[in-house]
Amino acid sequence: MSSGDQGLVVLAPIPLDARAARAGSAQAHVVHSGIGSRLSRRAAERALRAPGSAVAVTGVCMAIDPSLETGDLVLASEIRFPDGTVPIPAAGILAGALRRAGIKVHVGPIVSNPHGIALLRSKRAQLRESGAIAADTGSGWLASGAGGRPFAVLRAVVRSGSSQLGRPLVAAASGARAHRALVEATWVLDRWAHTVAPRRVVLAGPRASCAGVERAIEVVEKALEQYGAPVYVRRQIVHNKHVVAELEERGAVFVEELDQVPEGATTVLSAHGVAPAVRETAKELELDLIDATCPLVAKVHREARQFADAGYTIVLVGHAGHDEVEGTLGHAPERIRLVASVEEAEAVEVEDPERVAYLTQTTLAVDETRAVIEVLERRFPGLVGPRSDDICYATQNRQDAVRELAKMCDTVLVVGSPNSSNSNRLVEVVRRAGTPAYLIDDEMDIELSWLDGAHTVGLAAGASAPERLVQRVLASLAGLGAISVEENSVAKEAVRFGLPRELGVTRGD
Ligand code: SF4
Repeated sequence: MSSGDQGLVVLAPIPLDARAARAGSAQAHVVHSGIGSRLSRRAAERALRAPGSAVAVTGVCMAIDPSLETGDLVLASEIRFPDGTVPIPAAGILAGALRRAGIKVHVGPIVSNPHGIALLRSKRAQLRESGAIAADTGSGWLASGAGGRPFAVLRAVVRSGSSQLGRPLVAAASGARAHRALVEATWVLDRWAHTVAPRRVVLAGPRASCAGVERAIEVVEKALEQYGAPVYVRRQIVHNKHVVAELEERGAVFVEELDQVPEGATTVLSAHGVAPAVRETAKELELDLIDATCPLVAKVHREARQFADAGYTIVLVGHAGHDEVEGTLGHAPERIRLVASVEEAEAVEVEDPERVAYLTQTTLAVDETRAVIEVLERRFPGLVGPRSDDICYATQNRQDAVRELAKMCDTVLVVGSPNSSNSNRLVEVVRRAGTPAYLIDDEMDIELSWLDGAHTVGLAAGASAPERLVQRVLASLAGLGAISVEENSVAKEAVRFGLPRELGVTRGD
């Protein structure tokens, strides 16, 4: 692709679609494709010769999903048609870009059939069952017009899911509404086409779920298997919205506090650990408790109790309000002082400066924590600490890995939820090294502008994000042009933790 080929090719089935595409983007190269398999095939051949970096089909569609209304936009996640299925990697990134622009869009499979309305009439219920959300008459055959370029299908509903099929196909009013929606959205497709470029993607190694997170998720899964739904979980089992949503679908119920759990119910404590008072409450409520606290967090709890019993004031380095910190504070509430920064370490007051110990949250930034501990060492020369570092192996390895990515990449994407401490620290580590970095829950969070001019993109993930999300984001990057993928690994991880006794199983059973 030469730089002169940068831009959008639009395949528009009917003249009104073509007019909407031109109104939405003055620069787009618009190909009037016609309707049905034969005309679409011919149009695809013409599109192959059209100059442009990305190809989109725009036009109208009929709703299969009954919640779709006339004028709603539908972005295909894949096209199903008689010749097969066309995956559309760009759908997630485009959906995010459209939504951030204030444009409502539905994402899901579109069925292409030259006899669209007849197909719907006979098979709507079956298609709905299959997960398809809309139907059109030509996208499947138009897809080959992309010729290896990123491809998208954006349709506007002219026949809503609730409308009667016996009425005329395209009422003038609904057609006008649908085309207005397309005009408003086409500039986003244009912006997408101008972001398309070949890129090198470097995966961080290690990345994604740590042993503590894998164990915690498995605890909830096994509890659901053994005890059946619902299984209650105090707080998010791990700080990742996708993990939480998937477990919710399987019957887990997440609560903030145990008083929201019915008496005697099976209840899991999250990976971040809890204060002893929480266990007391569980006993009072006679809950069937399963503890998914990460063993490395439990180690910090033991250290807190040991230092407190020995008469030390404990300076805990961590972030106020984080679930793990709340849990650790509860193990020696009278004895612990919480500090989050060098400034707070300079100001912290203790009863006896001769007997001060420090502990840290497991997911902190290694460099920053070292600076805080140096201040404490200067202020309290007899300072003692844990026998081995509290910042866990997974935090350390992931930070080392992104530090390397920062040197190699133009920009770094970190997969993780906004409330994930360790994921936020990864972003900070990369930014401190002078490289732009962004936290994303999934591909929909990727802003097109982040990748402008980025030839090498780093992809990392916090310890609470599953690897399948990394693979999803990686696949979606192919929707922005050809990618070459490599991995830069700084450490091997083989840590695994056994499951809690309460489940009566060992790992691998
Ligand atoms: Fe445990 Fe470390 Fe994972 Fe936290 S990040 S759950 S402390 S292994």
